[in-house]
Amino acid sequence: MNTHFDLIAIGGGSGGLAVAEKSAQFGRRVAVVESHRLGGTCVNNGCVPKKVMWYAANLAHAVDDAGHFGIPAQRAKTDWQKLVRGRQDYIGRINRYWDGYVDDSGITRIDGDARFVDAHTIEVDGRTYSADHIVIATGGRPIVPAVPGAELGITSDGFFELTAQPRRVAVIGAGYIGVELAGVLRALGSEVTVVALEARVLETFDSMISEVLMDEMRKQGIALRMSFSVAGLARTDAGIALDANNGERLDGFDTVIWAVGRAPNTRGLALDRAGVEMRANGIVPTDAFQNTNVPGVYAIGDITGRTPLTPVAIAAGRRLAARLFDDQPHSRVDYDNIPSVVFAHPPVGTVGLTEGQARERHARVTVYKTDFTPMRHALSDHGVTTAMKLVCAGEEQRVVGIHLIGDNVDEMLQGFAVAVKMGATKADFDNTIAIHPISAEELVTMKVPEPEPETHHSIDSGVEWKEAI
Ligand SMILES: Cc1cc2nc3c(=O)[nH]c(=O)nc-3n(C[C@H](O)[C@H](O)[C@H](O)COP(=O)(O)OP(=O)(O)OC[C@H]3O[C@@H](n4cnc5c(N)ncnc54)[C@H](O)[C@@H]3O)c2cc1C
Repeated sequence: MNTHFDLIAIGGGSGGLAVAEKSAQFGRRVAVVESHRLGGTCVNNGCVPKKVMWYAANLAHAVDDAGHFGIPAQRAKTDWQKLVRGRQDYIGRINRYWDGYVDDSGITRIDGDARFVDAHTIEVDGRTYSADHIVIATGGRPIVPAVPGAELGITSDGFFELTAQPRRVAVIGAGYIGVELAGVLRALGSEVTVVALEARVLETFDSMISEVLMDEMRKQGIALRMSFSVAGLARTDAGIALDANNGERLDGFDTVIWAVGRAPNTRGLALDRAGVEMRANGIVPTDAFQNTNVPGVYAIGDITGRTPLTPVAIAAGRRLAARLFDDQPHSRVDYDNIPSVVFAHPPVGTVGLTEGQARERHARVTVYKTDFTPMRHALSDHGVTTAMKLVCAGEEQRVVGIHLIGDNVDEMLQGFAVAVKMGATKADFDNTIAIHPISAEELVTMKVPEPEPETHHSIDSGVEWKEAI
């Protein structure tokens, strides 16, 4: 086999597949190296299995509410095995799609762990392959802190391997993965405690989001143990215990899930042999065009430590291919105003600056806020709050941030993110006729600004994911 390629992607996840696919479409000889299954984290241990579980949880909530609408329905114990079997079959179909697609596209698939030999050569299972361009797209893995008994806990990867429903779960970490897993487990019938170092969940999000979500999680019966610093795990007669630095102990869990962040997969890549710079935490820094410090070597996706989301990795891969092979020298990702959703219960959607960030960056900030119980819950015996915030900057009130929590905001945000990206002002929102009766109409009918805060304490540090590498 000719082992020289125009481009080799190391990692067959969101970013690696995107750059390989696009480069092949531009007629280039391409190889992708993958040590596990094509599709990467998103397909196998991330977005996809998570979203299936989130839908299951939504259905469970719907069954709970159905009786209030006169629909007779009653929940029994979740058939966890059936749910997991269906989910894994679905993922298997996506894996097979990618296997077939890679073959049909003429992309060479190399199975195994890649390591650099030099800037243009890699080695996989003792064989060497070279390329004019090598793209590092190896993603990340969950962090397990080095505390005594840490191995008693599982990670998000382990959560997707569970073949039976846990009864009493502690989720350590209140970033997006922690709150998502907690919401799913609780909805499906587990007892859940969220334990976190921070004072609030989703700490880097606008404070309105954290406050409403904490309230809703408590209403669902999720115990929140904030400002709890886990010093170690221990096996006890009651199950697994979490010991805090201050001597406090939470005991009796059958499952403990570490959701405290993700680390880049740079171990074993031998980046030093190619001279590629790597930070102490494993991140491979790049410039705005995904170039590393070594010409011909690029990095995309989670490994770069920038906005670790699937569409970001895909966009970086596609645009890099267009720059390298389609005479589009300026093709790159704009990392500003990237919308993102947390599939919590209820879901969260956010784009742009938090109120705190906006007040730090702009002299004049106007904030519009609303909260209400959506019609979906009109007949329920419990309300689920929807809350919305528009953050506007300058005299013209350009909308620089939108923060949403509530039913359906996950689907609501994408279109509004287009408006933010285009520089829409509050007047543009006001000029848009509302659709009635839906929750999103509130976003174009907010009239009265919030009073100016007398003194401003910035508590919002950004919309970066807690799990940002
Ligand atoms: C629980 C969870 C939920 C998530 N939910 C969402 C979501 O809802 N929406 C969203 O946008 N993002 C979500 N993400 C994040 C998303 O999965 C990542 O941002 C995305 O997968 C990053 O793509 P990537 O190409 O950088 O890396 P990955 O998709 O992780 O792909 C990297 C690939 O490289 C392979 N690899 C690693 N080292 C080597 C090597 N040396 N040789 C060969 N192959 C190697 C790995 O096996 C892997 O397949 C979630 C992540 C997790 C963990």
